[in-house]
Amino acid sequence: MAELYGERGEIPESEFCESWTARTFSLARSAFETVTRSAEQDTGVAATGDDFCYIDYVCDPDLGPVGVVRIKSAEVSTPDSAEVLGAVAEGVQEFVMSHHRVTWPVCGEHDRGLHVGYFQETAVWECSGGTTDGHVVRAIDPAVQP
Ligand SMILES: [Zn+2]
Repeated sequence: MAELYGERGEIPESEFCESWTARTFSLARSAFETVTRSAEQDTGVAATGDDFCYIDYVCDPDLGPVGVVRIKSAEVSTPDSAEVLGAVAEGVQEFVMSHHRVTWPVCGEHDRGLHVGYFQETAVWECSGGTTDGHVVRAIDPAVQP
């Protein structure tokens, strides 16, 4: 953090924190678009509901300019695109399961639900079937090849 701040030494601390949170929020919004589109294409069910809030951006005036980005109940404090994508994917997976009773996504080979993992700094869907270590099925972002 100190190092990063050093690189941006010209920016006042309040603005730096603001941009940090804003970047996380913007990553979360674009990850949300990517993941819901992919879920809806795969399952044919809606991945969003009116009463369902995935992403929440809280900025408490008493605590200063630093906001908090929440994906479901998990706070995401890092503007790391893979981590944000993974957190959003877990939220969408949970919604599709609880709202529609649909398991998404599923491994075509082993016919079981996948879970979020990270492979070479890319957020991926992993299957625990097959070998003991399981296998990477695909990147969560369909545009990325793991
Ligand atoms: Zn599998």
